[in-house]
Parts: sequence; structure tokens; C-alpha cells
Amino acid sequence: MSKDKYNCLIVGGGITGVGIARDLCLRGFKVLLVEKNDLSEGTTGRCHAMLHSGARYVYKDKEAATECALENKILLHIAPHITEACGGYFMAVNDEDVNYGDIFNTECEKAGVWCEEIEPEAFLKDESNCNPETQRVFRVKDGYIDPFLLTFYNAYDAQLHGAKIKTYTKAEKLLIKDGTIIGIECFDFLKNKKKSYYADIVINATGPWASYLEKDLKLSHPLRIAPTMGTLLVIKDRLVSHLINRLRKPGDADIIVPSHNSIILGTTSKPVELEDLDRLMASKDEIEYILNQGEYLIPTVRKHRIIRFYSGARPLVASDTPLREASRKFDIIDYEEEGYSGLLTIIGGKLTTYRLMAEQISDLVAEKLDINAQCQTAELPLPGGDRVITKKVFEKELHVDKKTAFDMQFKWGTFYKEIFEMCETCLDPFSSDEGPQKICECENVTEPELSWVRENLNVRVLDDYRRRTRQGMGPCQGLFCYYKLANLEAKLTEKIHSQIMTELKKALEKRWKIQISANNILKRQIKLSKYIYLLGGNLK
Ligand SMILES: Cc1cc2nc3c(=O)[nH]c(=O)nc-3n(C[C@H](O)[C@H](O)[C@H](O)COP(=O)(O)OP(=O)(O)OC[C@H]3O[C@@H](n4cnc5c(N)ncnc54)[C@H](O)[C@@H]3O)c2cc1C
Repeated sequence: MSKDKYNCLIVGGGITGVGIARDLCLRGFKVLLVEKNDLSEGTTGRCHAMLHSGARYVYKDKEAATECALENKILLHIAPHITEACGGYFMAVNDEDVNYGDIFNTECEKAGVWCEEIEPEAFLKDESNCNPETQRVFRVKDGYIDPFLLTFYNAYDAQLHGAKIKTYTKAEKLLIKDGTIIGIECFDFLKNKKKSYYADIVINATGPWASYLEKDLKLSHPLRIAPTMGTLLVIKDRLVSHLINRLRKPGDADIIVPSHNSIILGTTSKPVELEDLDRLMASKDEIEYILNQGEYLIPTVRKHRIIRFYSGARPLVASDTPLREASRKFDIIDYEEEGYSGLLTIIGGKLTTYRLMAEQISDLVAEKLDINAQCQTAELPLPGGDRVITKKVFEKELHVDKKTAFDMQFKWGTFYKEIFEMCETCLDPFSSDEGPQKICECENVTEPELSWVRENLNVRVLDDYRRRTRQGMGPCQGLFCYYKLANLEAKLTEKIHSQIMTELKKALEKRWKIQISANNILKRQIKLSKYIYLLGGNLK
């Protein structure tokens, strides 16, 4: 097989694309994945980070509920370092919710989803910030999962097993010969260069952007995507330590997820145009609505600062054409019926069920290429996830404080040893306990962690560090850490000053872009940040 010819070419570096890449590489396939931005920068990095137990879907979609329940267990097993089996609650705050409780209980049982009713007093003892008027409560097995690191560890493992991953590379045109898709013409934004790659099978895993690649085909039933935007608010302070759901049929703004040092509240559901997918922005009304609904769950939620808001788009399919009849909660589209071979599209699903989606499409690829290779992803832990590493180990081995150890335990797993080796060259000269230097004070991100991700997790531009470490994601939103980061980048790479400054500006602009819908506190913070970077480095 030539250098630029692969068994499989995957387009899209969200969780679906990288999950498929890992699965196929573990089966021995030669894989290339292209992503037009950074990995996880699409829907995956804009989700609620909830590891579903299935309970949310028992009423409307039992099949999806059962799938979530099974995958939840698998993910806790293969990714203990980036998941939190914190459990969740469904809480009733009015009579309607209380009545739904009986339906909920029965439907959970039918779907094989575990739940247990408990006394509201016991719940409020556990979650003292929640509504004291809570009338009925069920416990479920919801959890937290880091969507960014889930993506990066899947990609990392795929690379360890031979995959090539090209970020900032857009698939622009399908290459077609006699009705067979033989490859893709791509454009690398960082090298400013076009290049064609060839494969036996192309997999379109571009989520809500999926119809773009179909533009080169003549189809009787083209994919019609009706994306709906969901907005989430990140609130400073970890006000709950379990997932909180409103006890009712799934609705807007009725979930709270504890995530690192904050909580994520949401979400909404609003149709958007395909042309707007790359510039989704919440409106002030949406933010206000989420806060109003959030007050039913945590009455004092408004007293805590919103540090960020973001929106992602669900790729809802707007047609019932025969191609999609077999669809359940995710679709795999094979274009053979339309007269094209060598192309599959996968769309829909959940972060929680990405592994199952990858398994099913990889089975189909193996069948098409007539190769008998079994899926291994339900048993093989993701890199770093061989065993649970406790907070105490991070504290002791890396000489970090309790807060930093708390954050590290949800990121690095067994990689702490490699990070420790990098520690020796970047100890904090101002610290008495020989701990590593902190670059991001809000999210407690240290220099060796940043150095480690640069070496191992595909960092290409300055903004890439954030998704891999949470640098710049905390309350100050990068007010103080970007110069320190730029300095580190200069130390670790050959990049020239002007290039680093250009990357720095782009990274900060992404932090500042929410200004348009921000409240006064956030607006003032962004203004201060702009002054700091203007006065400190003439960054306009
Ligand atoms: C608001 C919201 C909240 C959610 N919350 C949860 C939750 O709590 N738990 C859960 O389990 N699920 C949740 N989900 C669902 C979950 O986020 C998605 O199912 C999942 O992230 C989809 O991943 P994906 O890889 O299919 O799509 P994406 O993550 O969108 O990946 C597609 C990628 O393709 C890239 N791309 C597009 N076009 C091209 C091209 N031409 N060339 C190269 N690359 C291209 C994009 O840049 C993108 O990175 C939520 C979804 C939304 C919208």
C-alpha cells in the first residue's frame, strides 16, 4: 500500500471519528483521520459532559436508554481516569414532577436502567444547595466524563496503533472514479497546502456538518440535516457533587453536571441554519431562560458567577427516506443503494454511546473489506486508564497541593509517571515544597502537564493546550496564563516570535468572542483581559 493510500479515511475528529479510528486500528487497519479544526472542537467539546445512565431517555426512547446503561458501565471500566462515577439524582419540585415519578420508575425498570427512590431529606443532606422544596427524589447512575480527554486518548491510542491524524485539515472534495469514492482532496490550513489521500473506504463522521461531503454526489435522497442548537452555562463553584436532573419528561435547562471546579447548567434546543454551524452563539434571552429554569434546581444559582457559555448543534436528520429507515438513535448510511461504493456516513448518537457507534461501523467496514477482525474496545482500557490513580498519589508523587491533585486525578491516570519525569526540569523556584510551576492558576495546570501534552497529544497551535489540559477554562478565562503559555511554547518549539504572537491572538479571540451576549461582569472581565494583553504585548 502506498504512503498516501489507506484502508480507511475518516473525516471528522469529534468523538465519533476518533472512536472509529481507535477501533479500526486495534483491528489492524491502516487509518487516516482529518479534522478541519482541532480534535473535539465541534459538538464534542460543546456538550454537557454527562455520562448518561439512560434514565433521561427511559420515557421517550427505551432503546437509547438501554444502550446508554450498557455503555456507561463500559466507559467507567475503560476510562476510570477521565470519568467520575458520582451518580445522579432526579428531583421533583412540583406536583406534575411528583406524578411523573411513578412513570419514571416503571419505565426505568422496563429499560433495564437502575434507579432507587430515596427520601428528599437524605438527598438534601447530600446536596444542600438544591431546592429545599424538593418533594420526591430518585437516585440513578449518571456520571461525568471529560469529552476532551476522551477524544484525545482515543486519538492517542489510534496513533499508537498506526493511525495518522491530521488536524486543521479540511476534507474539501470527494475523489470519485466510476461510482467508487477513492479518496479525498484536503486542504491543510497551517501549511496552506492542498493534498489528496486515497482509501478503500471513506467514513464521513462530521456530525452536523455531514451533508457538506454529499455535495459531490448525485443522490435521490440526500441527507437533510436540521441542526438544533443547545446552549450551556458554566457556573463558577462546584455547587453540586452529583448529576442533578429535573424529574420530568426531558425538557430544556433541566440538568446540572458537576465538572472539575464548576457546574454546567443547560441545555436549550433551538433550530439553526447549516451556514451558521461554525459560529453558534447563545442569545441573552437563552442565557436568562436557562438561569430561570436552573433556579428550580438550585434557587441561589444566580448568586454565582457565569464564567462561560457555549453552544453545540445536534445533527437531527430531517427526513424519513428509505436510506434512514434502519436508523435507531444513530444512523449509518451506506451509499451503495444510491450507486456509490466506498463511502459511509455515520451521524447522531451520544458521547456516551460513541464506542458502540464505532464498533458497529467498524464491523461493517471489516465486512466490506472482507477482513475478519474483532472489536476490542469494550475491554481494552484507554491509555492512562489501566487502573485508578488516587488524588493522594498525585499529591505525593508530584508534590502538588490538594486542589491541583483534585484536578489531575480526572486527567492523567497512569501517565502521572511520565509527567513526573518532566517535572524535574520545571520546578517552581518560588515554592518551598519542590512542586512544579503552575501556568494556569484557576484550573491548576502545571508546566509538566503542558509539556507532556505537547509531546504526546498532537498540539499544533497555542489554543490546542486548552482542550487537553483545561488551561484558560477557569474563572479568569485566560486573563493571566496566556503569556506564560506563550513563553513555554517558545521554550518547547522552534516557532518564531511573530508566529507565537499570532497564535496567542487567535487563542484569546476565541476566549473573548462571547462578549456579544455576555453580562456586565463578564464584559468587564473581557475588557480587562484585552487591556492586559494590549499593554503587556501590544496585542491589538
Ligand atoms: C448541547 C449538547 C449537549 C450534549 N450533551 C451530551 C451529554 O451530556 N452526554 C452525551 O452523551 N452526549 C451529549 N451530546 C451529544 C454529543 O455531544 C454528540 O453526540 C457527540 O459529541 C457527537 O460527536 P461527533 O464526533 O459525531 O460530532 P462532532 O463532535 O461535531 O465532530 C465532527 C467533526 O467534524 C469536523 N468536520 C466537519 N466538516 C469537516 C470537513 N469537511 N473536513 C474535516 N473535518 C470536518 C468538525 O470540525 C467536527 O470536529 C450533546 C450534544 C449537544 C449539542
